[in-house]
Order: sequence, then structure tokens, then C-alpha cells
Amino acid sequence: MRINLQFSGCRLNEAELQGWAADFRARGHVIVRDADEADVVVVNTCAVTGEAGRKSRQLIRRAHKGNPQAKLVVSGCYATLEQCATAGIEGVTLVVPNRDKDDLVSKVDAVLPAKPRSDGPGLLQHGRCRAFIKVQDGCRWRCSYCVVTLARGAERSAPVGRIIDQINQRCEAGVQEVVLTGVHLGGYGSDIGSSLYELIRAVLADTGVQRLRFGSLEPWGPDENFFALFADRRLMPHLHLPLQSGSDSVLRRMARRCRCRDFARLIEMAQAAVAGFNITTDIIVGFPGESEAEWREGLDFVESVGFGDVHIFPFSAREGTRAARLPGQITGEAIRRRQRQLQQLAVRMRGDFVRQNAGQVHEALLENSQQRTTDGSFVYAGYTGNYIRAEYAGSACVSGNRIVRGRLAVANGRAVLSDI
Ligand code: SF4
Repeated sequence: MRINLQFSGCRLNEAELQGWAADFRARGHVIVRDADEADVVVVNTCAVTGEAGRKSRQLIRRAHKGNPQAKLVVSGCYATLEQCATAGIEGVTLVVPNRDKDDLVSKVDAVLPAKPRSDGPGLLQHGRCRAFIKVQDGCRWRCSYCVVTLARGAERSAPVGRIIDQINQRCEAGVQEVVLTGVHLGGYGSDIGSSLYELIRAVLADTGVQRLRFGSLEPWGPDENFFALFADRRLMPHLHLPLQSGSDSVLRRMARRCRCRDFARLIEMAQAAVAGFNITTDIIVGFPGESEAEWREGLDFVESVGFGDVHIFPFSAREGTRAARLPGQITGEAIRRRQRQLQQLAVRMRGDFVRQNAGQVHEALLENSQQRTTDGSFVYAGYTGNYIRAEYAGSACVSGNRIVRGRLAVANGRAVLSDI
């Protein structure tokens, strides 16, 4: 059967998709890029905010509308929290809640018996030169806005040996960059007597991976020992540390385990470990009760850090969370105004970070397909180690999934790698 896989939401959802793709292929199915070619469409949904839930429903409806003949299988956080509503959406054949996710492929096979086919195109033929490996699921914390933790349950870590095997398989298939992901990645190992630190050491020692990154990592847990690992240049100097607010009083209401001073200390450790270390973040705008003074304080802190990028999430209440019941819910207009202010700051900081790196030599992993630039030409592009997206303008004969080295410059607002 031809299987199309789609997701909304976090990198963990994407990592799960990659795991399912490998399992479907192992059972003789073919993964197809276009939903309209598929016999089965699998959608991995998100429910982190009310808006994410809306987008997930939209994705499911669009998948059915685009190919009404295909069987539609839905999993993920939205499908788990709203199982009946999901099952009621037109075209949905099967709902697989998060607790059964690991068996999704066999469940699909059980209800949709398929004729084995030849092995489908590999990961790289699908434009992927980066593999997401899910190492952990669940979270022991209870941030007041977070519904994901309700949907995904207690912390569960994959065994180190299995992760090493998965990474080695992906590397043998030509993958050069691996991203370790989890709901609470920093909690890796809490249930199996290990830790993220031990896992990284094992991955660096026992796999041939060229470039190793992390998905979102909560800003508590990393210490000097963790940052010392970056002495191995295969560990890319970029972390996505979700701050969520730059105001301690808001962080307290969010029940976050990190305060601004702790966060600033993490930044110091990162920058002491590797010059040019890039820190990106998530910020929730308009959390209940966020006063104008707290908002200003938050903006000032964000600016003082100088993030390489900011993902902005306008607060939307999720039923079942404490934040949904907090007083002082903020109106749409106030949220939109704050969002615009943060957006302007984020664009400025992103430009500043790229300019700080201009003139330096970087390596970038080029992606498989070329992209069209504003002047109409086609170029390969990819991410530098510290996660700057750069176009390649050097004279070497290149192809996708290749690591190139060059000097970074900024041209027409775009980062460009040229010959040294
Ligand atoms: S640490 Fe992350 S996953 Fe856990 S409750 Fe907080 S926001 Fe949710």
C-alpha cells in the first residue's frame, strides 16, 4: 500500500512520523509524498493550544477532501484528548491514541490488510537529510498551560542500545544529521537510571553520526558537564530552550521551573562552551494576567538575551489546564499588539545574530532539493552548525545532503556561504 504521513505541531510528532515511515517500509509499504497518491493517509495531530487543535482538525478534513478514497488514520495529542470528536470527523477510519502509538503500524495493517510491495524510496529520496529520533515521551512536570503532558502521560525513555541502532541505521542510509527529540528531552533516562548526558556520550562514542542536534530542551537540567560535551564538534552549537516568558512573575503563574536568572546562566554556559552558540526560544504572548509592566519586563529580558530566533505563541486556553481557569484572560487585540512587538524584536535579533556571524567560516548541510531565490535562480541551502539558514554560492560542484564549507556573508538580507 501507498502511505502518506502528515503531522502538525512539534518535532516529536515529526520524529514519530519518521519512525512509522521506517516501520511501514519494513512491512513492504511505500511512503508517498503526495496525499492524493496514497491508499492510507496518517495524520499525527497536536493540541498544545486551542489554535493547534483547530489546525489539526483542518489538517484531517483537508486530508479527506484531497483524497476521499484513502483510509484516514489519526493519532497524536488532539486525537487522544478528543478521541470521540476525532472519530466523528468525516472520513476518519481509525483513531490511534498516544498510548497505542508504538503499535500504530501494526494496527493499520490489522484493519487494512495490505499486499507486500518492494521497499519504498528511502529517507533521502524524500528530501530528508536530517533524521529525527524520538528518544523519550511524556513529562513529569505540570506547567499550567500545558496540555501535552496530559495527553502523553508519564516519562518513558527508549533504551540507549535501541537509539544507537536507529542512528547507525539512518547513518548507513546516508543521513548526516540526527536530531534527538522528546516531550521532555531533559528528562531522558529518569525512568531507566540514565540521563541525557549519558545518552549523548553514548551516541558520540558508538555512532558515526556527523552532526547531532537536539529538539526543544526545557531550560532546566543542562549544567557545566552538559555544555562540556560540545567540545566534540559533532554536537552542533545550537539549543532551542523554551523560555515562554521573560518575566519571573509570569513564569511563576506558568509553573515553570526556570527563572530569568537561571536562564541567563544557561546562556553564559553555552557561550563559554562555543563562541557563536545560537539560542532560540518559544515565547507565549498574553498569558492570563500578564500586565503591561510584565510584558515590558519580558520584552527587555528577551532583548538582553539576543535570541537567534523566537517562535511566538499567542496564548489560547486549553480546556483541562489550570491556565484556562486563571483570572485575567487577555483579549485578542492586546495579544495581537504584543505579538507584533515581539515579532519586530525577533526579526531584528535574527538579523543581528546573522550579522554577528558574517565573515566567519561555517559548514552547512545542504538540503536535497534546490530552492528558488528572490532573483529567480535556484540554489542549494542548508543550516550551519549554529542553525543559520544559508544559501550556498561557492564554486564547488554540489548536490543535496552534502556538507560544504564557506565564509558567511549577508546579501540582500539573506545569509550566503561563499568560497573561502
Ligand atoms: S516541561 Fe514542557 S512538556 Fe512538561 S509540562 Fe512543562 S511545557 Fe509541558
